[in-house]
This record gives sequence, C-alpha cells and structure tokens, in this order.
Amino acid sequence: MMDSFDVVIVGGAVIGSAAAFFLAEALPKSARVLVIEADTSYAHCATTRSLASIRHQFSTAENVRLSMFGTEFLRQAGARLEVDGVRPLIGFVEAGYLFLATEAGWPILQRNHAVQRAEGAEVALLRRDALAQRFPWLETGDLAGGSLGLAGEGWLDAHGLMHGFQRKARALGVHLRVGRVRALKRAGSRISAVQLDDGTTIGCATVINAAGTGAAALARTAGIVLPVQARKRCVFHFRSPEAAAGCPLVIDPSGVYFRPEGAGFLCGIAPPESEDPECTDFEVPPGWFEERLWPTLARRVPGFEAARLLSSWAGHYDVNVLDHNVILGAHPEVDNLLFANGFSGHGLQQSPAIGRALMELVVHGRFRSLDLGAFGWQRVLRDRPLRELNVV
Ligand SMILES: Cc1cc2nc3c(=O)[nH]c(=O)nc-3n(C[C@H](O)[C@H](O)[C@H](O)COP(=O)(O)OP(=O)(O)OC[C@H]3O[C@@H](n4cnc5c(N)ncnc54)[C@H](O)[C@@H]3O)c2cc1C
Repeated sequence: MMDSFDVVIVGGAVIGSAAAFFLAEALPKSARVLVIEADTSYAHCATTRSLASIRHQFSTAENVRLSMFGTEFLRQAGARLEVDGVRPLIGFVEAGYLFLATEAGWPILQRNHAVQRAEGAEVALLRRDALAQRFPWLETGDLAGGSLGLAGEGWLDAHGLMHGFQRKARALGVHLRVGRVRALKRAGSRISAVQLDDGTTIGCATVINAAGTGAAALARTAGIVLPVQARKRCVFHFRSPEAAAGCPLVIDPSGVYFRPEGAGFLCGIAPPESEDPECTDFEVPPGWFEERLWPTLARRVPGFEAARLLSSWAGHYDVNVLDHNVILGAHPEVDNLLFANGFSGHGLQQSPAIGRALMELVVHGRFRSLDLGAFGWQRVLRDRPLRELNVV
C-alpha cells in the first residue's frame, strides 16, 4: 500500500527544516509530516555555503519585517530548539551591517532608512565625520556617510540553525526520508503524490517545495514554470594584521562586502549581470580575490593591504530572476503545492519567518502573523515585480 503523509516537504535544508519545525509545533501529534532530502551531507546547498548574515537594511518593508522576526527568533533559538537539555549552537553575533555611500548614493540610503525606521528597525545614518570617528580603520575620504545597524543585525552559524531546526522537528515527530523527488504527480488542481528516484510513490495532502536551486525542475514536473535559477556567488576568507576593531558587515559603494569571521574576515562581490549566467559548477574563478576584491579592500581599509587569502568557496544563490524576492505560497492552478523559493541571497535570515508563514498556510489557510501576500504568485504571473534594491 502507498504510504501517505499530511505534509510532504521536498528539501530539508534551512527552509524545509524551518517549515518542518513550525508545523510540528502547531499540528496535532497525530499529523504526519515528512521531509524528503536528496543529500543529507548538505555539502552543496545554499544554506551550508551561505555567508550566514542577517540585516534589517532592505528597501522593501516586507523584507525588513521578515528579517526582524528572524532576529527575534535567533535571540531565543537556543530555548525554542532545545532537545533533551541540549541547545543548538547558533553563534548569533549582533555586530550590525554598515552600508557605505558616496554623495550619489546618499539619497538612496536616506530613502531606505525611512522604510526601515517605519518598520521599527534600529538603524542610524552617520555622516562622514561620525563614521571616521567610530571606525578609525576605515578610509572615508570619498564617502558621504553610511547606514549602520545598531541592533539585531549580524551573523550566525548557518549549519547550527539548520541542524537546530532539524533536530527539534525530528524530536517532535517529523519523519525524514533520504531520496530525490523525481516528480510531483498532478491530478487537475492537486498534487496527489510525489515520486522518488527509486520508484517509490508517496501520497500527500499538501506538498511544500523547499528544494532551493532544485525548485524550478521540481515545479516543471507539475507543469509550473518557476522563474528561479542558480547563480554562482563566491566567498573569500582572508587574514590581515589589521584587526578592524568593532567591524560590522561593511558594504562598500562598489558592492564589495567584508565582515569578521573568527580571527580573519570573509569578503565577496556579486558579478556584473553580464558575467552571471545560470550555473551548475562550484569553481571559484581564478584571480577574483587579487583583481576584484583586494584593491577595493585595501583602499577602504588601508590595513588590508597586507591581507593574505586563506581559502574560498562558491555557492549557488536561488535567484528569482523577476525581482530577487521569495515566491511564497500556492500557484493559482494548484491548491496544495506551496512554494518557498527564489530567496536570492537572503533566505537564511528569512527562514524563521518563512517557516512560520508556511505553517500558517497549511494550518490556517492564510497568513496570520505577517501578511506576506505581496510575495505571492500573482505578481509573478502579472509580471509586476516587487523589486528589492538592496541585494548584496
Ligand atoms: C554564497 C552565498 C551567500 C549567502 N549569504 C547569505 C546571507 O548572508 N544571509 C542570508 O540570509 N542568506 C544568504 N544566502 C542565501 C541562503 O543561503 C539561501 O537563500 C537559503 O539557504 C536557501 O535555503 P533553502 O533551504 O531554500 O535551499 P538550500 O539550502 O539550497 O537547500 C535546498 C535543499 O533541497 C534539496 N533538494 C533539491 N531538489 C530536491 C529534490 N528533487 N528532492 C529532494 N531534495 C531536493 C537539496 O539537496 C538541498 O539540501 C547565501 C547564499 C550563498 C550561496
């Protein structure tokens, strides 16, 4: 007989696991929730390869709200995700983000600042002199100022958070199956079952697509075109004699970013659109650190002139090519298939709010805590982007 579940979640990294946790908390004990994950080493998923940072400094109010809930959750994650007296190691460091701007970019910072303040984010605009005084290691000569997160922003251990969700969800009765979902079995406006690579078919009342960069292929098997593509992003780890005391996650006007990591720093930059095709490989292009990052780093922080590259890695953003924001909820043609895809570089920090939102859609049939209707399919189908301008 075919095995069947109330909720089947395809993809067990941070989004799938967050959904599993919130569902397990909210549903009656008799409810059956299954996570199906193709690779339980999580070696290549975006979650593991993330820069693992969280900010409230977005240009869209909805993104600010999602991340503010993320912070609230991270602050109490130890207690919420404790199992048998053991708390996950989330390592949340609230050191802030600092967006720098020249005179040309200053009005944009001001506009974003107004959006963020209206949502209650603790952010401050600092003019050049204030910046120079607060961060004496920073070269400020060409800057008008910066926008600094005063609380709630910073970085964490991405794997620690994902593992915390997974462990707690399992302790609350969520099932895990290792395997790749080959196809969603659609019957009219419903998904009746999922089919695995090994031929097994599993029945479902609801399916959640949390497959990251695998989400578009999965959607296609149900006849749905999801505009999400894998785009390569590289992260570089370097050491420097310059300690840059009190360093937040700094975003240079050029797009180069850096932040502390242990005794060193992580840094990177998004490639220009023309060099950003859909990709499948995880190769770090040669010369990127030396040619595209180091000169800017050394100009912004003169002490980084003596930086030494330690290591680097590439990961895949699941980019929503329409507007760089998540596509959340059901497609109008299929009632019981929920999407949470296309995070484009901010899915880790949004995972608590998205996990909770998916739970609300399953349990209550609508959003209750935060109205996230703006992230639904309607904008995609009508080609009306909800564009996020602060994409790092
Ligand atoms: C370099 C880099 C830096 C980033 N920095 C940040 C940051 O600072 N802050 C932030 O918030 N976000 C950041 N992100 C983005 C963030 O990591 C992602 O948005 C988030 O991890 C997405 O989680 P996910 O669970 O949806 O997808 P993933 O982590 O990619 O996981 C998807 C899972 O689904 C599984 N899967 C796929 N297809 C199938 C299938 N058919 N059957 C079964 N399983 C399947 C995969 O094996 C995988 O485990 C970054 C990403 C990268 C690559």
